[in-house]
Amino acid sequence: MAIVLTNGVCYITTTGSGKVVKTPTLEEAQTFYGVNAAMRKISKAPGKCKGYYPYDTEEDNICRYGTEKNKERRKYSKEERKILYERSGGRCALCGRRLTLEEVTLDHILPISEGGCDDMNNLQIACFDCNQFKGNILPDEFMERVIRIFMYQTKRNIC
Ligand SMILES: [Zn+2]
Repeated sequence: MAIVLTNGVCYITTTGSGKVVKTPTLEEAQTFYGVNAAMRKISKAPGKCKGYYPYDTEEDNICRYGTEKNKERRKYSKEERKILYERSGGRCALCGRRLTLEEVTLDHILPISEGGCDDMNNLQIACFDCNQFKGNILPDEFMERVIRIFMYQTKRNIC
């Protein structure tokens, strides 16, 4: 497995002096052992890595959670979805919106890329929008981001 960080055009690499830079050539891209390592890089340099995502050059696959190409993803039965649906009272676990069973997407509380498992205890239901928004972010980071957005928007609307 050779994971690189790309935005579809350029790649992330680190110079000898430890500086994070972008390169248009794949050969110069920094390779990571796994998605976790690549995600750590993003969290270390979020500004530089904005819009970049892990990409497996051998699998030709975007390693982001939620892509249908991800082979290791488990399929969930209707019954399992229903249990999760009822567990959260038919509401998106992130924004609280009421959902129909058809609208439900399953969200890993601890993302797979962060070592989360496919266990029912690590799953919750979420609306599609919230699931997309949350992506590979850890629950705590997600909350932090939501609060930041909320505070910023509230302040902006008052001023
Ligand atoms: Zn939602």
